Amino acid sequence: MMKFITKTIYLQFIACAKNAWLQMNKPELKDMFALSDFDRSLVAKGNLVESWAQKLFPRGVLISEFGETARAATVERLAKKEPVIFQASFTSGRFLARNDVLEYDSRNDVWNLYEIKGTNTLDENENSPDHIEDVAFQVAVLEDNGLKLGKIYIIHLNKEYVREDDISVDELFIKEDVSREVRERLEATRIKMGSAAEILWEKDEKAVACLCLYSARSNHCSTFSYSHPEIPEYSVHDLSRIGASKSKLTELVDAKIYELGEIPDSFKLTAVQRNQVFVHKTQKPLIDSSAIGKEIGSLSYPLYFLDYETYPSAIPLFKGFRPYQQVPFQFSLHVLKDPQAEPEHFEYLHAENTDPSEKIIANLKKYIVPRGHVIVWNKRFEKGINAQLAERHPEAASFLNDLNERIYDLMEIFQKQLYVHPGFRGRVSIKKVLPVLVPSLSYQDLEIKEGGAAMEAWHDMVFGDKTRTEKQAAIRNLLKYCGLDTYAMYLIWRELAKLAAY
Ligand code: SF4
Repeated sequence: MMKFITKTIYLQFIACAKNAWLQMNKPELKDMFALSDFDRSLVAKGNLVESWAQKLFPRGVLISEFGETARAATVERLAKKEPVIFQASFTSGRFLARNDVLEYDSRNDVWNLYEIKGTNTLDENENSPDHIEDVAFQVAVLEDNGLKLGKIYIIHLNKEYVREDDISVDELFIKEDVSREVRERLEATRIKMGSAAEILWEKDEKAVACLCLYSARSNHCSTFSYSHPEIPEYSVHDLSRIGASKSKLTELVDAKIYELGEIPDSFKLTAVQRNQVFVHKTQKPLIDSSAIGKEIGSLSYPLYFLDYETYPSAIPLFKGFRPYQQVPFQFSLHVLKDPQAEPEHFEYLHAENTDPSEKIIANLKKYIVPRGHVIVWNKRFEKGINAQLAERHPEAASFLNDLNERIYDLMEIFQKQLYVHPGFRGRVSIKKVLPVLVPSLSYQDLEIKEGGAAMEAWHDMVFGDKTRTEKQAAIRNLLKYCGLDTYAMYLIWRELAKLAAY
């Protein structure tokens, strides 16, 4: 069967030629390219957004077939000059493009092209996909097929839209005319497509290089270890914020220094990097007990260890929400009345397909009195959720604003370098800190092990077609997961308090 360069592969080629080459030519690496839960949820969100955006074109007909059949159906629909076609399919040489929407403009006898994006904006930066390149690729393939194109649009979500009782599709989406930008890009895109056709058919793997040897770990794709088996799993690429000082990484890699233990003492590093290397070399932690003592001693009781689980829906689920605004659906709270007390546990999980906000606020109010610190891990998130709850429920604003005033971020002890351990490997997430400070407690035995899985489990439970037994299992798993998050924070606090002799 003829292999085609699809739009997805082409965009991967633009981001990294080696990655695209491996996907096209090394089927044995397919496990490395398997979609993560997070990627799968992005794909599902994209599909959902597309199905809503299609409502903007009530006369649209869908080409649901694939391969040759889809292309034959496209030819037929084009000949009939259907007012709107979804998923028309075209090939040109080695390229294959499927279009979200083609709309026939009978007055000018041209076709308008629409690309639907599940994003809130068209802003592009080095981490976001290149939407104009995406559309330019499609235009090149369509024009090679002799199609006369009119206007070119990108449809994306309107981040200012606030849902009323029903969703207004016209307000939910913004259509941006990108005809000029795409036309300006087209020639360069055609040149890049030519390179893609050459490089992706290259037989000699060595001709296509993996360039991430000079990039921080966060930029590496899942095939890095295949291309660079000489690099240890924990290496100079993992130095804290090394991406911000690329010249240092270049110097180390060029000197073939990959292991943290091989970095010379004289090598210039930031204070945080120096600590990371020092604890790795000595395999001993750096602990500033007196500073930790001051932090822990500044907290007033009761201590409330609080964690939210939330769902960011592309299409607002309830009245009052914007696209991608987080819906808090669960919290866990461990309350410590005084340093010697055992913690008490409270929780709330909204298991209905209605807006959980009021119930979340009412239950928080039940358990939290107006004094004592609220301990979280990464305060930006919890503070943001409280602020949004206050915005939607002004009657509870003083309670929620007061909570935010009393928030203490336990992660800061680690960010401030008061406790640095070789086992953290330069990170400060709770998933890295917990196994070091409290090795007996682990997420590994849980059905739900991380926040992304929790949000999908909740969404499936309340909106999916679940049996009573499945729903009960989901409730159990969600309660266990979120409960562990706050219990973990309490145990980490306890270890820190012991160190500080409190
Ligand atoms: S590790 Fe980096 S350069 Fe290498 S294939 Fe992956 S993304 Fe491309």
